[in-house]
Amino acid sequence: MVEEVSVSLFWFRRDLRLEDNRGLEAALRGPHPVIPIFIFDRNILDKLEDRRDRRVTFIHRTLSGLKEKLRSWGSDLWVFEGTPIEVFGRLSAAAPERVRVRAVYTNRDYEPYAVRRDAGVAELLTASGATFESFKDQCVFERNQILNQSGSPYTVFTPYKRKWLASLTEADLALCAVQPLRHRFHRVTTSPPLPSLADLGFEASESSFPGTALHRDTLRRYGEERDFPARDITSRLGLHLRFGTLSVRDVARQARDIDPVFLSQIVWRDFFMQILHHFPHVVKGAFRRDYDRIPWRRDEKAFARWCAGNTGVPIVDAGMRELDRTGYMHNRVRMIVASFLCKHLLIDWRWGERHFAQRLLDYDLAANNGNWQWAAGCGCDAAPYFRVFNPWLQAKKFDPDGTYVRRWVPELGSGDYPAPMVDHKLARQRAISVYKAALDGS
Ligand code: FAD
Repeated sequence: MVEEVSVSLFWFRRDLRLEDNRGLEAALRGPHPVIPIFIFDRNILDKLEDRRDRRVTFIHRTLSGLKEKLRSWGSDLWVFEGTPIEVFGRLSAAAPERVRVRAVYTNRDYEPYAVRRDAGVAELLTASGATFESFKDQCVFERNQILNQSGSPYTVFTPYKRKWLASLTEADLALCAVQPLRHRFHRVTTSPPLPSLADLGFEASESSFPGTALHRDTLRRYGEERDFPARDITSRLGLHLRFGTLSVRDVARQARDIDPVFLSQIVWRDFFMQILHHFPHVVKGAFRRDYDRIPWRRDEKAFARWCAGNTGVPIVDAGMRELDRTGYMHNRVRMIVASFLCKHLLIDWRWGERHFAQRLLDYDLAANNGNWQWAAGCGCDAAPYFRVFNPWLQAKKFDPDGTYVRRWVPELGSGDYPAPMVDHKLARQRAISVYKAALDGS
């Protein structure tokens, strides 16, 4: 009779890399040999509207690379499809190769769905005599690590950032090495194939994806030039930070040594993650609850024109088309299109948030929600509602020679381009009076 072997599983989620992966390192240092796994979570896949979703292609490609690397180390990556509860239920009852799962290691995810999912998985594992161990990996500071003097979470960015910077030690950015521990992987002999995209109900997208390198020259110009979309000066690392194909500690270390403005962006990322953790009501409603009284216009036609990049406002259309074609939009332009939707069109920020969630390669609930609420004026640390971006002035300032706009709206000036769907002055006045009336409670 073959003996059962006790193992730990390492469950990859938003940390699709081997190097400097804290949960994986902890698993390898633990008492049992480790088998890495990934689950294509049906609860998430079923919410995606586009069968050619670029992110699924990206994850699939990344898993294929991980599997290959792990196999070269004598290990493998077991990939499952289903809901995590189903998969762990199956593994607890009868794992392949007569292994007995004693522990599951993973890195923490702070989104409400993930928190519920992990609580369910932990309960199931406990019932079967296994443990669930989770680690901080996705951000530099998490949950309650940065609090104000009275022990409450910060809701304004600048003091949060001050405390974040003052709290930062070498240990927070220390990188851990996994490769020297590679003998701690369990030597698996069964290698279930990676399900194909078609098996999962998807097709490959044509996208090429940005690389993981952070270029020093680019970083040096970041503070001065990051607001100009035509210059392509930003890092494009959002996707890699989202799926953990890069370690945030590695990025933060490099940023700290070269550019404080870039480091601030990493702090913004942590800031919104802790906002989501402490104030989960933001997923459904305004951070400042008064703003839930705003009577948004339910204008499906106007929304469709915004989504299609057909508003007649060139910088808005350029941004929306860039998003549609590439899954990316420059930050300054995200701010302009978001403000245009909420203020000029008076359409609910949640509609825009959902559209971005379906399209953005770097979509992240905390960052997307925080930034949308900021643009709508209802978020923490948002500008006062009566400050309404003028998209024409924004374009003049940040795309002065129109290079960015022409890239995405080549028909501009040809007679085929529509007239602006709203007049800036009128739309601005309407936004201010509607917001004011709602907030005054009148
Ligand atoms: P860089 O400028 O090179 O910044 C480096 C990294 O810092 C980014 O990759 C990101 O991880 C982080 N970062 C930068 N700015 C912000 C910010 N304002 N808030 C939080 N993190 C930040 N960012 C997302 O990662 N996911 C989203 O879903 C998302 N939705 C947004 C929606 C709106 C309406 C707006 C205005 C901004 C949104 N952002 C979001 C923030 C920002 O636009 C992107 O992080 C950035 O454009 C990504 O490009 P980059 O990697 O070249 O950024």
